[in-house]
Amino acid sequence: MIESATVGQESDVFEFSSIVLMVDDQKIVGEAMRRMLQAEKDIEFHYCSDTASAISRAESIKPTIILQDLVMPGVDGMSMIPQYRAHHATRDIPIIVLSSKEDPAVKRDAFSNGANDYLVKLPDPIELIARVRAHSRAFRSQQQLRLLQQKLEASNAVLRQLSSQDGLTGIANRQHFDEQLDREWRRCQRNGKQVSLVMIDVDGFKLYNDHYGHQAGDDCLRTVAQALKKTIMRPGDILARYGGEEFVVILPETDLPGAAAVAERLRDAVERLELHHEKSPCSDHVTISLGVACCSPTARMESITLVRHADRALYRAKKSGRNRAFLAEPLQGPPAELAA
Ligand code: GH3
Ligand code: MG
Ligand code: MG
Repeated sequence: MIESATVGQESDVFEFSSIVLMVDDQKIVGEAMRRMLQAEKDIEFHYCSDTASAISRAESIKPTIILQDLVMPGVDGMSMIPQYRAHHATRDIPIIVLSSKEDPAVKRDAFSNGANDYLVKLPDPIELIARVRAHSRAFRSQQQLRLLQQKLEASNAVLRQLSSQDGLTGIANRQHFDEQLDREWRRCQRNGKQVSLVMIDVDGFKLYNDHYGHQAGDDCLRTVAQALKKTIMRPGDILARYGGEEFVVILPETDLPGAAAVAERLRDAVERLELHHEKSPCSDHVTISLGVACCSPTARMESITLVRHADRALYRAKKSGRNRAFLAEPLQGPPAELAA
């Protein structure tokens, strides 16, 4: 007697579109069903005589349809339906209940338990084959749709990442910075936390380009960006290319002394790259100047205020000789020139 029978001699080369798992204790019924399906080359038939191993069988053969007998020794076949629905391997597989009689009450129970169809044993072969095919086709389409959806979500994630990335350096771009600053600003406002900003500008970069060429300038920006990225420690901190040879770091929930320490680490990291810069106005190597600003956002303030203050501090760092960080005065409210 069969335990697992594959219908059709060409099973090794034929792509089955329906895989049936029949769970029924009566081997004679299993054999009868196998015979009904054996001429159909697109249907692969498997038989399992005990419910205890039904789910593990399903895990290995991956059926597109389960035929479940209702009356089995020691087990209520009906109770198998919720078990199939609860298991990840069988959750979505269509189930046809095989009943010994046409009984509206049993039928109602079967459908309310999660069965997809109901057949009385032994069914008419034409009807059985049609239903096996229809349910299998629907199941396969649903699976393909899910797969396509997953692929679409994955490519959307890649697109999202690319649209927020700077093409030259691979770090976040200006648009991403604007969005993130806005988000952090509102979050810190809600939580009554401070947020800091570090504006960074490469020193004498026009001279670097003029002397070493634009291509070398691009390489230099990439190297500087990577050094800055490695120095940013906390996962919530955001480094972005602000434009040209300027970078910016958002430091959420960070006070001014904390931000000053980060700025000094960033400055040091670039200096230690020891990228030759013969024409630098302040060193033998590529260096950066930094402006640091911090505030506790309030409803009366806008995030651009913080950017302007960091920018002004950066300007002062440039004026004071470059290759250094300058701190802005703590921001309590709108600065004088922005106040109404
Ligand atoms: P400072 O120390 O005052 O900042 O002087 P600087 O020369 O760095 O500043 P300036 O603003 O005069 O020049 C910036 C230069 O950065 C000019 C511009 O050509 C160059 N630059 C901007 N974006 C890029 C880029 O993507 N690649 C390259 N190679 N150069 C760039
Ligand atoms: Mg600049
Ligand atoms: Mg510069």
